[in-house]
Amino acid sequence: MDYKNDIKYRKETLKKLLFNIQKNEDLIVKALYDDFKKPEFEAVLTETNYVISELKSTIKNIDKWVKPTRVFPSLLNFPSTDFIYKEPYGEVLVIAPWNYPFQLALCPLISAVAAGNKVVLKPSELTPNTSAIIAKIIEKSFHINHAEVVQGGIEASDKLLAKRWDYIFFTGSVLVGKIIARAAAEHLTPITLELGGKNPCIIDQTANLKLAAKRIVWGKFINAGQTCIAPDYILVQKDMKIKFITYLIEEIILAYGKKIKNSPDYARIINSKNWVRLTGMIASEKVIFGGESDASDFYISPTLIDEPGLESPVMKEEIFGPILPILIYESENDIDVVINKYEKPLALYVFSDNDSFAKKMITRYSFGGGCINDTVAHFTNKRLPFGGVGHSGMGAYHGKLSFDIFSHHKAIVKKGNWLDLPMRYAPYQNKLKAIKRVLDWM
Ligand code: NAD
Repeated sequence: MDYKNDIKYRKETLKKLLFNIQKNEDLIVKALYDDFKKPEFEAVLTETNYVISELKSTIKNIDKWVKPTRVFPSLLNFPSTDFIYKEPYGEVLVIAPWNYPFQLALCPLISAVAAGNKVVLKPSELTPNTSAIIAKIIEKSFHINHAEVVQGGIEASDKLLAKRWDYIFFTGSVLVGKIIARAAAEHLTPITLELGGKNPCIIDQTANLKLAAKRIVWGKFINAGQTCIAPDYILVQKDMKIKFITYLIEEIILAYGKKIKNSPDYARIINSKNWVRLTGMIASEKVIFGGESDASDFYISPTLIDEPGLESPVMKEEIFGPILPILIYESENDIDVVINKYEKPLALYVFSDNDSFAKKMITRYSFGGGCINDTVAHFTNKRLPFGGVGHSGMGAYHGKLSFDIFSHHKAIVKKGNWLDLPMRYAPYQNKLKAIKRVLDWM
């Protein structure tokens, strides 16, 4: 077992993982349902199939990604050939959240393994069924000294964080992200933090309102709003508000029917703590639509809130649930006031047929990534980096970038011996003018 140097071995283990995931796909989907009634369609689309596709693409590309890349040399080093070697960091810790518990645990593990690391994965304790099946699959696919799952909550995390790691990849809340960063600082361990935030969704007067409503309803209520890049709140141009709300309600009913609780396509809140937090947010607000809840089932219906105050509970923290506050704006300054009140979000969405307005919005604010005229879609393109900025995270992954972040990029200059230009060597007398001319010319 030489996963550090033997690329073939890495590929074989990833193929074994692929086999075990495909073989157990039904059980994974069932576990996700048992944990919080994740609908089968969403489980396949956003969890099992997403991971399978990531695995296939990694297996296909690993030989190419692992190769040292040749870069154009600096003339100062003439004659030389210059390379970047990809070196595995060593031992990698992955800590995952509960909302996409299969995908967000497996994808970093796959890339870390592909890059030649040993991986310890701690999935979320809030999705015990999914975490158990992840542990079984990893045990079947890898030698324990190559990849291992440690189950448990904060105590298990604490124990793991007390050790020295060569890389830590964390997905979760801002609060815990800071705990991870502090622990990593002890050993100067490099980290990726995939966190959250309050994601604005701006709709101007030129937007195709009906289509915008459809795409927002999908991105907001998939996984019952428990998605890090779900629109957190709407900022709609004042005159469009009533019409837009009518479309939102129409689209919610089209998607989930009139008896949403009975829809097989609508998930539940993960646990009592979050159900209480979310219903608390609704209690003090003017509900335009929805607002129903059931503690016995951790159910909260898709809920639209009318113009909450910026200091209200629903606007004070990341919602991370099926509640959508609708705020209005009259001027761009109004948009500024709201967006600048919060830390840099993970995503921002703008719906507009006015190109210059859309471009202005995506360049004026700092955020992880986003879409013009859609929601969530930027997550799905493996060629786009996925990650936050500021409080919404540091570092980005997906596709080849995931392989790259789990590799140290080692710079190598291979100098030719057939020529040795005397310019750089002491004594420097009379060489300054000449070297300046060379540098100017370069
Ligand atoms: P969380 O931070 O509570 O937990 C994440 C992981 O950290 C879990 O494995 C948990 O056991 C562990 N953990 C919890 N408390 C800890 C502590 N005190 N010390 C050490 N480890 C601890 O997050 P969550 O509730 O699982 O997920 C929701 C959050 O994650 C939201 O803020 C959401 O925006 C964010 N998120 C971000 C992304 C992204 O890709 N950027 C994806 C999904 C979720």
